[in-house]
Amino acid sequence: MMLSLMTALTAVRSQDAGAKDYPLKPVSFTQVKVTDDFWAPRIETNRAVTIPFIFKLCEETGRIDNFAIAGGLMKGEYKGERYNDTDVYKTIEGASYSLAVHPDAGLDAYLDSLIAKIAAAQEPDGYLFTARTADPAHSQPGIGAERWVEENVSHELYNAGHLYEAAVAHFQATGKRTLLDVALKNADLVASVFGPDKRHGFPGHQVIEMGLVKLFRVTGNRKYLDLAKYFLDQRGHDVKLTIYPPGSRFAIYNDAEQIQAHKPIFEQAEAVGHAVRAVYMYSGMADIAALTGSEEYIRAADRFWDNVVGKKMSITGGIGARHERESFGVDYELPNLTAYNETCASIGGAFWNLRMFLLHGDGKYLDVMERTIYNGLISGVSLDGKAFFYANPLQADAKFEFNQGLKTRAPWFETACCPGNIARFIPSFPGYIYATKGDTIYVNLFVGSTAKADLGTCPVTLRQETRYPWEGKVRIIVEPEKESKFAVSVRIPGWALGRPIDGTLYQYEPEAGKAGARGTANPGPTLKVNGTSVPLAVDKGFVSLERVWKKADVIEVDCPMPVRCVVADAAIKGNRGRVAFERGPLVYCAEGVDNGGRVLDLEVAGDSSFAAEFQPGFLNGVVVLKGKAADGRTITLVPYYAWSNRGIGEMIVWIKERNKG
Ligand SMILES: [Zn+2]
Repeated sequence: MMLSLMTALTAVRSQDAGAKDYPLKPVSFTQVKVTDDFWAPRIETNRAVTIPFIFKLCEETGRIDNFAIAGGLMKGEYKGERYNDTDVYKTIEGASYSLAVHPDAGLDAYLDSLIAKIAAAQEPDGYLFTARTADPAHSQPGIGAERWVEENVSHELYNAGHLYEAAVAHFQATGKRTLLDVALKNADLVASVFGPDKRHGFPGHQVIEMGLVKLFRVTGNRKYLDLAKYFLDQRGHDVKLTIYPPGSRFAIYNDAEQIQAHKPIFEQAEAVGHAVRAVYMYSGMADIAALTGSEEYIRAADRFWDNVVGKKMSITGGIGARHERESFGVDYELPNLTAYNETCASIGGAFWNLRMFLLHGDGKYLDVMERTIYNGLISGVSLDGKAFFYANPLQADAKFEFNQGLKTRAPWFETACCPGNIARFIPSFPGYIYATKGDTIYVNLFVGSTAKADLGTCPVTLRQETRYPWEGKVRIIVEPEKESKFAVSVRIPGWALGRPIDGTLYQYEPEAGKAGARGTANPGPTLKVNGTSVPLAVDKGFVSLERVWKKADVIEVDCPMPVRCVVADAAIKGNRGRVAFERGPLVYCAEGVDNGGRVLDLEVAGDSSFAAEFQPGFLNGVVVLKGKAADGRTITLVPYYAWSNRGIGEMIVWIKERNKG
């Protein structure tokens, strides 16, 4: 059943001969088995704890019943926000990724039961939006009296986008068309309503663009790709906003800039407005750039990237500085205590940077992606997998309620976008580790794992053995099915080459042995093939090793991990006279609980040095950094992602340097 459908759909796709696409293709997460001590336990916690936990909360909060009520399967009233359907969709997407690599008959059957309710809630013409269908005569706040008349507020097309992504994931995992058919019927309706010669409009919250591209990929039907492009092209044209009176909680949507519709996208010079909307839009733009080859799209995607990475990103990869409207600030507006840095924006940032890499083949995008994933993204979920951050600040004073009214992690939120986004990102992570282009296989990230890739000439298995991110030694065992010539392109992370990210927003202080140095020396990365040193010829962040590979050839990479001090561009006011500490891909912070309760007044001296020590039983096993404060007391730093797993307390990333600033 599954195979014949796949074959049929692949056949449709291949008729589109000569179609454009990303030059690089990710090696699917289903072809990559993570075997390390860092990611494998996280993926397992997500599967065994987070996904069931979120489904349970979706049940308890009426999110599942909303579908049953809209479908006439039970009596009752719609509960919650108008976008609550998406929490169910995103968790189905995550559960499907999990199912694809970890068969689970119970979960499979549970998804079937959810999909039956979703299908029941779909109106005969394909419309699916439980906030309206549950009681069309008495519309929920913010959805308008009719379909799509308040798109700047209603989230109807946003809900649809998450439905499409869930449907494609479920189809690919199970071979069942149940949810895919619901999604296609909905997309066909949307395509019949919106377009250049039809109703004009665009989503108030982007994500449908990525969803439509996935429907295009799975069906080969160009209509879905055209609609995705139309929605992007239409932004900034014929903008009709429903305006709410001042004081209304919907008044934030009165502003076209908040939803990136103040100008056509090619005329937008910088990243503005709601950060999650923005990065979902940029990800959709990268898809359109790749699938159409449009230079205009490529240039626009590049422009937004230069602005975000050059001027609007926290050291953790977090984006969207302001709590107010969950939006980007102006250039260099990057506060610490009040940084918003929504977990969803970090996840969107990972989507976007992977796409930019697949488009351009440059490791600078992976430097940002890795920084985001290891810091401001996985910070979003607790070590036990059932408490979440909405906001990911760089400082905490134990007073400011930064996390939707709380001073620490929360099991749930009324607007619960972030938990479901974690649930779907984590199981898809193995798909970020490798990519291919022709007869080259790219090692994007160092993660203990086994990957199977087909290089056209020959199937190849790569096996990475490493204790990354705690150690920078990596063994890559190359296993071609038969001896053959191809290239293994190994990324040398920017941090190992003395460059935290592209541009000048963050820079390392000089290393030991150089003027103004602090910390241990950095001997720099080395590379060997079968024990013989290879010159480190880094091009666009990669060393390309092209040769005739045979079974059990070994590549050894060693990226020493000295503790590094980072200084921020002086234009970031709050970080003047302060330094942050990093080791490998990880940003560190000081928490009160490890440092006598108080860290906001910490000062380090210009010659403070820190030693790294792996503590297996602490915070699920982490390297801690220990050093001396300027006043002589010992300071303990922990990885930023692990903070706030031990109650409410102070935390700081950017530490004051004595006699500076
Ligand atoms: Zn969120």
